[in-house]
Amino acid sequence: MQNAAARMDRKIRRIFRISDRQTWRFHWQIDKITVLTKDYFAIRNSKLIHIGIKRQKNNSTDQPLAEQLCIPKLLQLTLLARYHTQLMHCGYEKMYLTMKQRIYWSNMYTDVRNYTTNCETCKTAKADNHPVRAKIRCREVPPEIFQRVYIDHLKISVKGTTHGYTYALVMIDAMSLCCEIIPVKSTSAAETCRVLLRE
Ligand SMILES: [Zn+2]
Repeated sequence: MQNAAARMDRKIRRIFRISDRQTWRFHWQIDKITVLTKDYFAIRNSKLIHIGIKRQKNNSTDQPLAEQLCIPKLLQLTLLARYHTQLMHCGYEKMYLTMKQRIYWSNMYTDVRNYTTNCETCKTAKADNHPVRAKIRCREVPPEIFQRVYIDHLKISVKGTTHGYTYALVMIDAMSLCCEIIPVKSTSAAETCRVLLRE
């Protein structure tokens, strides 16, 4: 299938032609841009292979080469779909790294990224790890002290205590930001009111 589709692919046909030394001279004018800008290619068993260098850390002179099968335009979408399904709808980085071990086409990285970001399954099934944060707003400051007091309970669990004070009632004045923390036994309205009146 790769062969049949490759014959129809203009880009691949051209690289095929310039990889074949015998016809090199005839097409030199048309193909010199391709020759000068493209990477290394080879023909193996009448299939076009792209010779890629595996980029690895601490990989100095003897860089291993990856032989990647060139994929014609006609088959690219099919392969994107197959890889994406087989890799359980993984992210584009992982998908690209897996694909480039065996196959190649120019701008494959961009195509992989576009395919994965537009995948409907990924969009609906995956959790949004970047939720929209609420904007920080300035609170309104009342003109006088004790006009508004913010209150809340904080649970404090200390092991082995017998006094029963398991909550702290936190009270903050909206204007002065003066803070009072009172130990309480429950979060009931009755106890909260009692403490507020007392303090
Ligand atoms: Zn997906």
